[in-house]
Amino acid sequence: MTEKVNVVVVGAGQAGLATSYHLTQAGVDHVVLEAGRVAETWRSRRWDSFCLVTPNWSVQLPGATYSGAEPDGFMPRDELVDYIQRWADGFKAPVKEGCAVTSLDQDGGGFTLRTDMGDIDARTVVVATGGYQRAHLPRGASEMPAGLTQLLAEEYRNPAAVPEGAVLIVGSGQTGCQLAEELHESGRRVILACGRCIWAPRRMGGHDLVWWLTETGFADRTLADLPSPAARLLGNPQASGHGGGHDLHYRTLKELGVELVGRFEGVDDSKVHFGEFDAAVAGGDALAAVLKKWIDALCEKRGLAIPWELPPPMHLDARRELDLDREGVGVVIWTTGFRPAYDWVHSPVFDDMGFPVQTDGRSAVSGLYFMGVHFQRKSRSATLYGVQEDAQLVAEHIIENRK
Ligand SMILES: Cc1cc2nc3c(=O)[nH]c(=O)nc-3n(C[C@H](O)[C@H](O)[C@H](O)COP(=O)(O)OP(=O)(O)OC[C@H]3O[C@@H](n4cnc5c(N)ncnc54)[C@H](O)[C@@H]3O)c2cc1C
Repeated sequence: MTEKVNVVVVGAGQAGLATSYHLTQAGVDHVVLEAGRVAETWRSRRWDSFCLVTPNWSVQLPGATYSGAEPDGFMPRDELVDYIQRWADGFKAPVKEGCAVTSLDQDGGGFTLRTDMGDIDARTVVVATGGYQRAHLPRGASEMPAGLTQLLAEEYRNPAAVPEGAVLIVGSGQTGCQLAEELHESGRRVILACGRCIWAPRRMGGHDLVWWLTETGFADRTLADLPSPAARLLGNPQASGHGGGHDLHYRTLKELGVELVGRFEGVDDSKVHFGEFDAAVAGGDALAAVLKKWIDALCEKRGLAIPWELPPPMHLDARRELDLDREGVGVVIWTTGFRPAYDWVHSPVFDDMGFPVQTDGRSAVSGLYFMGVHFQRKSRSATLYGVQEDAQLVAEHIIENRK
């Protein structure tokens, strides 16, 4: 028997739930299909000590803006999961958990969703299956020696669960830096392969980094503001929310004693090759300089003191080759970003990088919407402080279309 539903939202993370919140407020009959449980990605794809990189005040979910005692704190994983669960329970989000959608096809004027609980026909579908879907591995990653333990960032739990030996972390965005710091502090020898990553101080001029990202408009940049569509794959500024929040970038990691090397370039036998470290750090500094321009412009406009000067270029005599056997490397952790994974959505609405082509969440196929896409409308779209306005627009359009 095929179930018939008016509106289906796929995914009960913040993007799907924010859409559901607005639909619920407007009395629109809908169901949210979730493969796991509410907030599944935060539950099962984050490490044990994970905490937000953005401060609690930036949790601005519709109907659930953070109003707790620690606005400047950084919620640990389990607290965030409870927060999202309470929010969903609070507005009675109609979530069907344990219901993975395996395909979505256009069917006449509507859609058929194949799920592991049976087929569903819907007039309108909102795909909200995550901004960071499939872990991306760099070219050459598959040549790693057989038998060497390899983990994706989402599989890492804690230092004790990592096999013995030195740890090579490939990828130096927020996650790679945080895992490097945690493993180093647990007494492990860590080698971090570094790319071109934007960074900034955690606090500047008495404000958190995220305050500057939002106040300057940096978080409101659209895809059209970027030098190329591929630029949306660059990460968010390196920083950490651990221990109340602190700076965490190449210069702080070097101070700590983490070994930094250049970009992963490939492996032959047990030898891993890296690019020049100085090129990676210079690339990151160039991205930081772009952010600084936004900060300086805001300061000029508001008559504020410039809160941050870029340090002199960083130079390291970093090695270009690592013999995994000789150096006793027991595990490689890949923290090299994500790519979209919408292969189950059978509609020609994706660009050549696999991102949905949409305007304010609406695709070219009538009734097919997306939520939580990185740079859906703005740089902040796939964050806890950006999802609200996107969800409202998608819900408004669905409601308008029903009339
Ligand atoms: C490591 C990391 C740290 C981050 N830290 C922060 C931070 O500190 N602050 C911040 O603002 N943002 C942060 N983000 C960005 C963003 O807030 C998260 O990625 C967030 O999870 C995105 O929410 P979402 O609802 O779009 O996707 P998700 O939370 O991934 O939710 C998607 C849901 O869809 C379900 N699903 C997927 N496929 C199907 C299917 N076929 N059928 C049914 N269900 C399906 C999944 O199980 C999941 O529950 C971080 C991202 C990453 C990767």
